[in-house]
Amino acid sequence: MPEGPDGSAATLDPKEAFQLFSHELRLDILLALRESPDYSLGFAELRRAVDERDSGKFTYHLGKLRGQFVKRVGDRYALQYAGHRVIDAVRSGVFHESPSVDPVAVEGVCPRCGTTPTFAYEEHLATVACPSCETKLVEYPFDPGGFRDRSLGEAVTAFDRRTKYKWRSASGGVCFVCAGRVDVEYADSAADLDHLDRYDDYFAEDHPAVLELGCRNCSFYSYLPVGVRLLDAAPVVGRLAERGVDVDARPLWELPFVTEAARVTVREREPWSVLVEALTPGGRLDVLLDDDATVESVTTHP
Ligand SMILES: [Zn+2]
Ligand SMILES: [Zn+2]
Repeated sequence: MPEGPDGSAATLDPKEAFQLFSHELRLDILLALRESPDYSLGFAELRRAVDERDSGKFTYHLGKLRGQFVKRVGDRYALQYAGHRVIDAVRSGVFHESPSVDPVAVEGVCPRCGTTPTFAYEEHLATVACPSCETKLVEYPFDPGGFRDRSLGEAVTAFDRRTKYKWRSASGGVCFVCAGRVDVEYADSAADLDHLDRYDDYFAEDHPAVLELGCRNCSFYSYLPVGVRLLDAAPVVGRLAERGVDVDARPLWELPFVTEAARVTVREREPWSVLVEALTPGGRLDVLLDDDATVESVTTHP
């Protein structure tokens, strides 16, 4: 456990840390610092910014934040990393906003029927699906903050980029939520393993295998298509780019090795060996994933 400068444990009890924000003035102080140049203000400026006339009350609440969330630097109070993270959690909108977006057309075609898919958003869940045959192509949580300062089209692109970033990180063993260690294992089917209904109507339900991810440190867990592992493997990404498939520019729902069950073959289960086909114009790559879900070999077919 990291230690503070005086040798004491540089941590608060988690319950204590959350109780700190039971008084709205404390969150107002952090938000005022966020609005200020260099994320810092002098005492009088800060008090004016939160509009608190009672100096004693203001001093008391500011004192509660000092150390972990706000640090005195010279004659100014500066937002600390923990203070930034509190604001970030608030600004993500997850705690107090639940917008919804009616289905809107996005680029691409449904692999099953050729219709243009749509993007929709409800209860923090973004879904790209076919409006005609109802095939779900991709579904994942997205924070309401993603819609701020963006057109809807830009938000859809942001959803694609952020989801790729999250999937790359988590399937590589690093939690994007808390930085903790994520265990990555194969599972036969998400629907068989989940005890809640979250995966009842899962977009990769028909895949012969999926990846089961669980963070040892926080509450993050997820089931992902095995093809996600190709997004982060240089030998695959490079060869696909040479053949005209840019995995960054092309949205997840336009990457059949992520969305289509037919592109995944389980060769063995003990130990696991899974073949994923990545189609290219006029050919394909056969990518073999090993028991750790890392790329073992790549075979190119013209
Ligand atoms: Zn369709
Ligand atoms: Zn975590």
